[in-house]
Amino acid sequence: MQQFSGKAISPGYAEGTAFVYRRLDHRDIPRYEIVDSDVSMEHRRLHDAITRSFQELKQLEAQVVARLGEAHSAIFAAHLGLLQDQQFVARIRERIQRDLINVEHALDIEVTDLCKVLAAVENEYLRERAQDIRDVSARVLRQLVAEDGGRYEELPPRSIIVAHELLPSETLDLDREHVAGIVTEVGGENSHAAILARALGIPAITGVADATSQIPHGAQLLIDGERGLLSVTPNDAAKATFTTLKSNYDDDTSAAVAAENLDCITRDGTRISLFANINRPFESRAIAEHHLDGVGLFRTEFMFLESTEPPGYARQVDAYREMITPLGDKPVVIRTLDLGGDKLPAFLAPERRANPLLGLRGLQFSLAERKLLETQLRAIITASQGHDNVRVLLPMVLGEGDLDEAITLVRNLSTQLGVTSPPRVGAMVETPSALFALDRIMHLADFVCIGTNDLTQYMLAADRNASEVGDAYSVLHPSVLRAIVKVIEAGRSAGREVSICGEAASYPKTAGLLVGLGVRQLSMSPLRAARVRYLLRKAELSQLEELAERALNSSSVEAVRQLLQHSPLTRTHCDSVSNAV
Ligand code: PEP
Ligand code: MG
Repeated sequence: MQQFSGKAISPGYAEGTAFVYRRLDHRDIPRYEIVDSDVSMEHRRLHDAITRSFQELKQLEAQVVARLGEAHSAIFAAHLGLLQDQQFVARIRERIQRDLINVEHALDIEVTDLCKVLAAVENEYLRERAQDIRDVSARVLRQLVAEDGGRYEELPPRSIIVAHELLPSETLDLDREHVAGIVTEVGGENSHAAILARALGIPAITGVADATSQIPHGAQLLIDGERGLLSVTPNDAAKATFTTLKSNYDDDTSAAVAAENLDCITRDGTRISLFANINRPFESRAIAEHHLDGVGLFRTEFMFLESTEPPGYARQVDAYREMITPLGDKPVVIRTLDLGGDKLPAFLAPERRANPLLGLRGLQFSLAERKLLETQLRAIITASQGHDNVRVLLPMVLGEGDLDEAITLVRNLSTQLGVTSPPRVGAMVETPSALFALDRIMHLADFVCIGTNDLTQYMLAADRNASEVGDAYSVLHPSVLRAIVKVIEAGRSAGREVSICGEAASYPKTAGLLVGLGVRQLSMSPLRAARVRYLLRKAELSQLEELAERALNSSSVEAVRQLLQHSPLTRTHCDSVSNAV
């Protein structure tokens, strides 16, 4: 048995078989010379890899249609078409024969050449096809390069993914049915991949050095997503401890879930609204299931991440309607595209910048890519007709300049569409700049939502995606807590609603602290709401306010954590997740 210690990023206990996942890197592509007699074998390898890729895509298409509906199948047509393009295949065959090189190398040269040609053409549509070509060729290459890992599409039941790092798009691809847990070498607690893992209820740990080389594919694993521990081929003693801990955790979960249909009211009668953070339209069905007050944050960018081209107006209208319909009159907050950072869709240039978190992000990205923003806003305005409670939320607002520009756009587009009452528009406060423009933001926006994930990152200059920063990234830092209070106070004096939709809201004790600071609206992944509700129902507001006062006067993250851990608040799980409690 081997034991590894990492950092818990998604709570729970998981037992399963290691599935070592390696993303194919450009440097891993085998390149070698062949002799004349090998040509026909390389041609056959090409043919077989294309056939298998075709079957794989057809299978994936069927799954996506079954899960998300026909509207989402369009993206596969381009890829399937390319695999059937005889000219493209003939060029690779010729290259093998002429240059006497292996098929992987020939495919790579042809794709690189073709993409270069496409990058130079005027026509935007053609330029964007380069992405499809790269995507399809990566699929064929994966078929050609025998990986000892494998592909998601072939996941056996109860797999534990072991990877260097997972991108948000890769996490989205996970087949929840078969994935029992996730172990990564790097990745922060509030990276979007971690947020997705928590939203899916998949226990996960990160910071396990050399996991992909040390853990054999197929090994039996136990994940303790509370303490961040991993056992490889566990012995009987480790199995027994795991079983006890898991059973305690499951009992706690059952107690919290049993109270899910009770109102979220503190013992002394203060009502706290609990909203859902969702990433895809169909997830709004979870609102009724978990007795939530509405959608507090729909991260629309995930719809764009899944696609090799941006979804058009009609597809977006359908998606927003699908999301809004099950909610009746409950409030729905649709955030405009928040691209950039670790959320880079396939249709954007793939070049990796050294510092993506300080690149064009959120609203600044959308204002620069105005067509994308306009299409999205038109679709939201159209889909919201007949519903009074659909609101637009703008991410990464810097101040009155960008906010005013976007609000004016919403109004103008509403007028163009003949809509007399445009949707209300809110601003996310998640940049230090916004903190210094609160009065103006409150004046312009109809409501405000604090994004603690980014606010923490930019205030403390610590990457939310990096596991090595440890405590340097924590919402519990007294300065971050003081910033939150500033926003609440500004909202109160301007008569604007203030909610919190960062991950901080989903950790029970931290949520209690936020209520003590004055927040009355919390938005989180639906699966996380039961424990938050459970704790808040057992707490007294005065107790939470006293805790908040002491936290605001503390001098460090550790001091605040100690306060929370030793407070008389109900014992709940997630306590070991270090950046929030
Ligand atoms: C945040 O920053 O807290 C937030 C909710 O936005 P995201 O996590 O999508 O960046
Ligand atoms: Mg954010």
